[in-house]
Amino acid sequence: MVLVYAEATNGEFRKVAQEVTVYGKKTADVLGTECHAVVLGNTPGAEALGKYGASKVHRVTGPQLEKFDAAVYTVALSEAAKKLGATVVVLPHNSTGKNVTGRLAARLEAGSVAGANSVPMMKDGYFTVTKPVFSGKAFADVQLLTDVKVISLAGNSIPVVESGAEAPVEELSLELPEPKTRVVKHQVATGRVPLPEAELVVSGGRGLKGPENWSVIEELAEALGATTACSRPVADSDWRPHHEHVGQTGVAIRPNLYIAAGISGAIQHLAGVNNSKTIVVINKDPEAPFFKAADYGVVGDLFEVLPRLTEAVKKYKG
Ligand code: FAD
Repeated sequence: MVLVYAEATNGEFRKVAQEVTVYGKKTADVLGTECHAVVLGNTPGAEALGKYGASKVHRVTGPQLEKFDAAVYTVALSEAAKKLGATVVVLPHNSTGKNVTGRLAARLEAGSVAGANSVPMMKDGYFTVTKPVFSGKAFADVQLLTDVKVISLAGNSIPVVESGAEAPVEELSLELPEPKTRVVKHQVATGRVPLPEAELVVSGGRGLKGPENWSVIEELAEALGATTACSRPVADSDWRPHHEHVGQTGVAIRPNLYIAAGISGAIQHLAGVNNSKTIVVINKDPEAPFFKAADYGVVGDLFEVLPRLTEAVKKYKG
């Protein structure tokens, strides 16, 4: 059986949970088995995970799970996998998944692939998972040779489609340890879709000249329903919060549309954004390296181009 960890975000099962469930179901189909979901905590709406391919949902509850603690979540997921006899466990490759995947694989003595972006295949008789390497410049096929396998799935790698009906939710009783850490403050980034899940992103760089000019980025993002991002020096200068920093040392994203204004396109920036399906670059320097990676480029002053683009989007949307 394939077991997916369906993570709730801000009290809801959103795209991240749906993606791993769709992926789990496709993996289960490859193996000729079932996909089940495990949820940690009392978030309502778990039965809807059935629509994305889970034939059963297992709910684990306990005061230890109220706040994220990597050690407790690892025990919960590994004990669930053992008790239910899962042969493949799938997590999202977000901050939770990055914290837990390695620990979980160690506890289950499992071969593991972090950041997979396509459905596993049986190739030459081996369970094989493809993952991007070298900042997405190449792909590696990894054979997982252990009985139990652990995979974390990169965000926006798989289209979310409904394929079934609601699934039964069963309580799963597990012995959980006490947390070893305590979260004293939890700041929710913005009301917008979190960057790793965002399909539309508008991003600004040092060409914006200062934080007081960010309204041109915000207004376009608002008109498109997009999430905002920035280059590293912008976050380092405190013009924008660090959670908006994309790139090699920031968040890696793969939206459908990435609009970059006043960003030169350094390799460290490209490393986190070059998996975007469509890249639009606005830069006043026609030699800016970013144009080489762009699908569409506008050579011009962003302070003229962005407001006109915003106006055009508003007009188009009526
Ligand atoms: P700049 O390079 O200063 O570019 C500003 C651009 O704005 C220029 O191309 C300019 O032509 C254009 N511009 C100026 N005015 C206008 C205007 N009015 N209209 C239109 N265009 C205009 N960077 C990241 O972003 N993410 C990372 O994760 C990251 N990790 C790094 C890791 C390491 C180890 C190192 C060494 C560096 C890393 N960097 C990262 C930094 C990276 O090398 C670049 O310095 C950075 O991306 C440049 O940011 P920028 O494009 O905003 O600024």
